[in-house]
Amino acid sequence: IGRWPGAQSIPHVYERILELNDDEHCGCENSQLPYKKCCKTLDSRQPLLREAIRFTLEMTGGIRKPPRKIIDFIRERSDPPSIGALTALT
Ligand SMILES: [Zn+2]
Repeated sequence: IGRWPGAQSIPHVYERILELNDDEHCGCENSQLPYKKCCKTLDSRQPLLREAIRFTLEMTGGIRKPPRKIIDFIRERSDPPSIGALTALT
């Protein structure tokens, strides 16, 4: 349908700038608002190069991967973590 239809987790400014349409859920930790009505204005004021470097460093070279707790669950075949226990950076 051309956009992500529900809530999502996108804590990085650079990723939100690259990925989000105005009418998609923002993906910041504090909002279920559409990106245009939430973080878009503030994100657009951030230095893009700084945010690109920050995103690349925090995402281990720009490679997307599941949260650590999901990786541990897959490897250890333990009980799955609760959704509330998951964050993008763990
Ligand atoms: Zn937001």
